[in-house]
Amino acid sequence: MKYIIVLCDGMSDRPIKSLNNQTLLQYARTPNMDLLASLGRTGQLLTIPVGFDPGSEVANISILGYDLSDIQEGRAAFEAIGIGVELQNKDLVLRCNLINIEGDFLNNHTAGYITTEEAEVLLTYLQEHLGNDRIRFYSGKQFRHLVVVKEGDKQLECTPPHEVPLQPYYNYLPKAITIEAKETASLINDLMSKSHKFLTDHPVNLNRISKGKVPANGIWLWSPSHRVKIKLLSEIYPAIQKGSVISATDLMRGIGVCAGLHPIKVEGATGLYDTNYKNKLDAALDALVTDDFVYLHIEACDEAGHAGDIPTKRLSIENIDEQIVGPLYEALKSWKTPVSIAILPDHSTPCEIRTHTSDPVPFLIYYPGITPDNVQRFDEVECEKGSYGLLKGNQFMNELLRV
Ligand SMILES: [Zn+2]
Repeated sequence: MKYIIVLCDGMSDRPIKSLNNQTLLQYARTPNMDLLASLGRTGQLLTIPVGFDPGSEVANISILGYDLSDIQEGRAAFEAIGIGVELQNKDLVLRCNLINIEGDFLNNHTAGYITTEEAEVLLTYLQEHLGNDRIRFYSGKQFRHLVVVKEGDKQLECTPPHEVPLQPYYNYLPKAITIEAKETASLINDLMSKSHKFLTDHPVNLNRISKGKVPANGIWLWSPSHRVKIKLLSEIYPAIQKGSVISATDLMRGIGVCAGLHPIKVEGATGLYDTNYKNKLDAALDALVTDDFVYLHIEACDEAGHAGDIPTKRLSIENIDEQIVGPLYEALKSWKTPVSIAILPDHSTPCEIRTHTSDPVPFLIYYPGITPDNVQRFDEVECEKGSYGLLKGNQFMNELLRV
């Protein structure tokens, strides 16, 4: 048996008033997910352990079966691996979002989905003017970048930019938790305020403004982390000797690499609804020829959820159904080696609240020969009746791998 997890970031939702109190998974046309739900078994999974914030890093690490209390580092540490930044022992790495500031407000945590090409110019500019022996900027993708501070203290209280409410942002700037961390806190606050000054009139931003787009006129630093190391999946699960991760995000690639998976780059993968679904599917099928396990991550739904964009989230769900799930099932039908398919979101990103929640997520598992349960549709409401019941921690991986 081989295994593929189709991870649809932020796909689950809550009942939406304007859709007659249906969730988007109920509302969208998903004949292929429904078919696999009817042929396989379903359930719900608690992907956010009690006491943890519902971040994608928490959810995905938990889905892969790791105990979160063993992992002390945040997403920036995994993104560093995804980007290929080698951290030294005392290096502090922080996520550096390009953001849009309007007056006293953090107006947009993605700088209007700035392109990677524009962002690279801005990050290079920041490195030239604010980088030094101790501080280094690294470009990632779109609005997601990193800053590494040598000898930085991790004891900082930082608010993710997508959780800064519409109040003056000054109240949410990074703060030191300990006296020792005060120097690092003041250093990164200084970086944020200087970046705002440097970026405001940058030609890239003037050009964005002339096209009616919001300028990336600030950075927001958060997720203070040191270097991270976790057990390899192959050490935990003997069934996974060789695996791959396919994702447009540095975070998911980093988590995968950390877990011993081989990262596969896919042409046209954008992390948005317009991603090249076919190329991602083809890459996954190619990988399954030689590997035991593929983690296929699709970001699109999460971004639409954060934007509160119901039509785009619906389109993203239908694209995944039509262009990934359907052709995946069709292709694997003729394979001699049976492949177990799991489909699930990592967490909900409900359009109405535009942020992640800790709600349990629906999941399905299908493999040739599985005894199906009575659930006929893949959505939050139906999967609650599924025969796996409500799982948590490593129970999902154990069920998938039938440990
Ligand atoms: Zn996520």
